[in-house]
Amino acid sequence: LEPAPATGVIVTGAASGIGLAVAHALAEVGRPVALWDLAGASARAAAAAITDNYGVAAMGLGLDVTDTAAVEAAVDPTRSALGSIGGLVHAAGIVRAEPVGYLDAEKWDAVLDVNLRAHALITQAVLTDLQTNPGSAIVGISSIEAFIGQAFIPAYCSSKAGLLGLTRALAHQLGGSGVRVNAICPGFIDTPMMRGNVPEEVIAQQAARSVFARLGAAEEVARAVRFLMSDEASFITGTHLTVDGGVTAT
Ligand code: NAD
Repeated sequence: LEPAPATGVIVTGAASGIGLAVAHALAEVGRPVALWDLAGASARAAAAAITDNYGVAAMGLGLDVTDTAAVEAAVDPTRSALGSIGGLVHAAGIVRAEPVGYLDAEKWDAVLDVNLRAHALITQAVLTDLQTNPGSAIVGISSIEAFIGQAFIPAYCSSKAGLLGLTRALAHQLGGSGVRVNAICPGFIDTPMMRGNVPEEVIAQQAARSVFARLGAAEEVARAVRFLMSDEASFITGTHLTVDGGVTAT
């Protein structure tokens, strides 16, 4: 196999949790990375630390991934900073709890916009770059919630299931130009999203559902993302990899 091309990768949601771990994991193997996040200051600080640690080009950018104009305006400066754009990892995501039986249109739109529509939007914005660079790949961060579901987060579960459908559609659309498109379905991962939204006793219950009786670490998800982004995964497209410590093992 040819070594993975060291083209630049955009990582959304990269100021925190899984996205941040992905940016580190890719930089560790020499990929320039752009950290796109609402939290611009954190993204810039993380990018500076990445360049210090790994000696690769890294940029941090504060933007809302649902904002079409902002996403389109971000592509040129990102390409200039990284030298090329040959990959996208969409890890930006939000979760909003809703009482059972009560549909909150605003929450649905917000969750679907960030978790699902933004993935299509950014893919479209960098399409020419991806198609131009050999070995380009896209990974979307879905969730095991796409399969198992949870009562209080129907919009989130729908967005994550939708991302799997989008992954398959994009794999068909882009396969002809050699771009691979896959998703990762993490289980229960110890991140600020988890700590900020889930009560301690529920976190303990979730940890207990893994055959290892623990939460996953963001770095364990990031290594799976890195695999799918690399040429090691050259015949893998239109599918997902579950990284859940056996929660969904049947
Ligand atoms: P996190 O909250 O730690 O990080 C998410 C990042 O996304 C934050 O830095 C946030 O600022 C950014 N973000 C949110 N909305 C944005 C927007 N509109 N524009 C730009 N950036 C935005 O969460 P995490 O746990 O690391 O989650 C990362 C991804 O993994 C999410 O898609 C999440 O749904 C998914 N996931 C997480 C778990 C888990 O257990 N933590 C499990 C399965 C899937």
